Amino acid sequence: MKNKSNKFATKVIHAGGHPDKETGAIMPPIFQTSTYVQKSPGKHQGYEYTRSHNPTRTRLEENLAALEEAKYALVTASGLSCMSLMMHALPEGSTIISGDDVYGGTYRLFTTVFNERHQYKFIDTTDLKLVEKHLKEKPAMIWLETPTNPLLKISDIKKICELAKKYKVMTVVDNTFMSPYFQTPLVLGADVVVHSLTKYINGHSDVVGGAMMTNDKKFYDKVWTLQNSIGPSQSPFDSWLVLRGIKTLAVRMEQHQKNALKIAKWLEEHKKVDKVIYPGLKSHPQHKLAKKQMSGFGGMITFFVKGGLKESRKFLETVKLFALAESLGGVESLVDHPAIMTHASIPKKIREELGIFDNLIRLSVGIEDCDDLIEDLEKALTKA
Ligand SMILES: *Cc1c(COP(=O)(O)O)cnc(C)c1O
Repeated sequence: MKNKSNKFATKVIHAGGHPDKETGAIMPPIFQTSTYVQKSPGKHQGYEYTRSHNPTRTRLEENLAALEEAKYALVTASGLSCMSLMMHALPEGSTIISGDDVYGGTYRLFTTVFNERHQYKFIDTTDLKLVEKHLKEKPAMIWLETPTNPLLKISDIKKICELAKKYKVMTVVDNTFMSPYFQTPLVLGADVVVHSLTKYINGHSDVVGGAMMTNDKKFYDKVWTLQNSIGPSQSPFDSWLVLRGIKTLAVRMEQHQKNALKIAKWLEEHKKVDKVIYPGLKSHPQHKLAKKQMSGFGGMITFFVKGGLKESRKFLETVKLFALAESLGGVESLVDHPAIMTHASIPKKIREELGIFDNLIRLSVGIEDCDDLIEDLEKALTKA
């Protein structure tokens, strides 16, 4: 991290980078090693064992810390393992306020793994009055995902952080959907940012990984100690792949957004489509807030096809360029049916209360030529 004032597109390429001391190699070596030689017992160069530290992973952590304007970053084997460590870091019996429209896997983690250790309350975090009502009860943490998945609801990070500070509640933002290119929660007042590196940050659908960034040394140390004790550290090769992918984060995010905005507008005019949700559309109920706290709107679109499960199925079976798959944020376009796929772990009744109906389709718009993507969608909508 040579120069803290570098702009984002420079940081993605240079933060954490330096030529290899031994050879001058411009790209970081993959330190594919489990252990490190010590000069004398306990005398080493900062690396003892790869579960604890690895030089390739360190470079990725330095890069990610710079992107989220954080002092500390911790990289783990998956987004969910990072979240698990954070849950272990809270004292037993903690109350956590969580957005009610969080990633399906996060919901499952909270309700089926940590539900005996902690107490979770799922609320609509777009409602500031409701948020304050719950913060008054002094929970340990408030967990925000904004925009949410798949309804792309937007919570006011700055206002919620102000309220949370008033009641001394730790704020966590899952920033996976926007990536630090479009949104930097720590700058808006959050205590911790968490990411699934699997998505936009790596961006090439070839790695699963997670990360946490913070300026809170005590919390970082606690989570690092837990990672070292429990063991979900990322492999050097995966860290290297993320370092490779991250270099193009700025240009990728620009293109994701350009394509997504064009497709969202096109879908909004389509007669086979009931409704489109995209933060960049004027019709989005929180478009103004989106413009205020994000510097762009991302590549995720949610829309409702006219009809029900039958029509959705026909559409999903017909698209070709949009691959029917879970996950998001890769260079290639994906389509997901949350009710059957990513959000199936949420009971149907709760799903429908949230608005995740059988005709809801989620697009992760890639960086292909937009005309090809629209042609693909047009064909599938005609069949639906
Ligand atoms: C994918 C995802 C996660 C989980 O991350 P993994 O890397 O799959 O473990 C958490 N939050 C959001 C918003 C995600 O999209």
